[in-house]
Amino acid sequence: MNISTIRLPLEPNSWRADFPILSRPVRDGQPLVYLDNAATTQRPRQVIQAIVDTYENHYANVHRGIHWLSDQSTDLFEDARQKISKFINANSEQEVIFTTGTTMAINLVARSWGDANIRTGDEILLTEMEHHANLVPWHQLQERTDCRLRHIPITDDGQLNLATLDTLLTDRTRLVSITHVSNVLGTINPVAEIVARAHAAGAIVLVDAAQSAPHSPLDVQQLDADFVAFSGHKMMGPSGVGVLYGKQSLLEAMPPFLGGGNMIRRVKLDRFEPADLPAKFEAGTPPIVPAIGLGAAIDYLLQVGLQKIHDYEQVLTQYAHETLGRIPEFHSLGPAPERKAGIVSFTMDGIHPHDVAQLLDRHGIAVRAGHHCAMPLHKKLGITASSRASFYFYNTPAEIDQLAAALEDALRVFRRR
Ligand code: PLP
Repeated sequence: MNISTIRLPLEPNSWRADFPILSRPVRDGQPLVYLDNAATTQRPRQVIQAIVDTYENHYANVHRGIHWLSDQSTDLFEDARQKISKFINANSEQEVIFTTGTTMAINLVARSWGDANIRTGDEILLTEMEHHANLVPWHQLQERTDCRLRHIPITDDGQLNLATLDTLLTDRTRLVSITHVSNVLGTINPVAEIVARAHAAGAIVLVDAAQSAPHSPLDVQQLDADFVAFSGHKMMGPSGVGVLYGKQSLLEAMPPFLGGGNMIRRVKLDRFEPADLPAKFEAGTPPIVPAIGLGAAIDYLLQVGLQKIHDYEQVLTQYAHETLGRIPEFHSLGPAPERKAGIVSFTMDGIHPHDVAQLLDRHGIAVRAGHHCAMPLHKKLGITASSRASFYFYNTPAEIDQLAAALEDALRVFRRR
């Protein structure tokens, strides 16, 4: 691929200027090459400004005060919910629950829907490529209910082996909970197909969209997913806020997860009546400013264009595979680039992933090393750790060239030892 002759789906440099941190020198004045976007993304000035503006001009608690400032804060907070609802094409804002992130959203479903619906011997179908956030809540549910956890296996090239689905989906399967995009392999899973097959078998589906919602258009009605979870900080929003989307009929039938203020209609000394959606699942003071910041991030994402982001990251990923693949010691994990999102996890012959990350850091390049909260997947792959470069639309082909050069340098360092 001759990157200089390709017409890119978007021009990263025209957006980079909005991100103050991307022009901040690191380590003895070197430019930052930020390739750890699957862990968390950076924020543009517009999001930072929305946060500052809220604190400086509009901040009060929401849904409580009968005063002018509280009305302003409530309007901004509810505007953010409306933006998110439109962003994912939910049927209504009632279906958008603010959580602290993907982890809490999945835990909410496991505790509330799970405890109410899962009985001994019922089956929950997961996959071998899940993040711990989509494993441990189900382990805990298994401890509470003695249900059975089953897993869709992965193929040698890191895709879901859907040939197994017919036997794995049984009349005991109540829920299928799957990641849309693997945070290690980058695999984009055929979620719509899995949803259709799960529904045909009588199961509902939760989609972990932590690694997809920030990078490509997400239409929950088109997917027909029953629950969808994602995190604000992986899509340029603040940390501390995330979303659980749920179909209204399911959310209405579920008992509240946490108890406290805001989630009630009425409280007596001996009992309570829960509030309507979405308040029923938002006990206590919600993440007011993070939610408003997430609304600003969504405005920004829509300006860039989700389809363009997806298309551009495809080009970056192909280019990364080609460029890094020329290094004989480099081995990427997961499928071919056209089947994956902008996540390139890899191992290097002769260098431990943590050493790779440390040596790259000397060049100002930020990547992640370790198990990336997916220990069972690494075990399946026969490794304990990997290094991971993950992209966003503000990354450039030149940064991939820098990554390749720094990896070559790391090899030279290790050969000298
Ligand atoms: N699911 C996936 C696929 C992820 O990549 C992550 C975070 O890395 C999570 C869930 C958990 O997200 P959070 O830590 O924001 O709750």
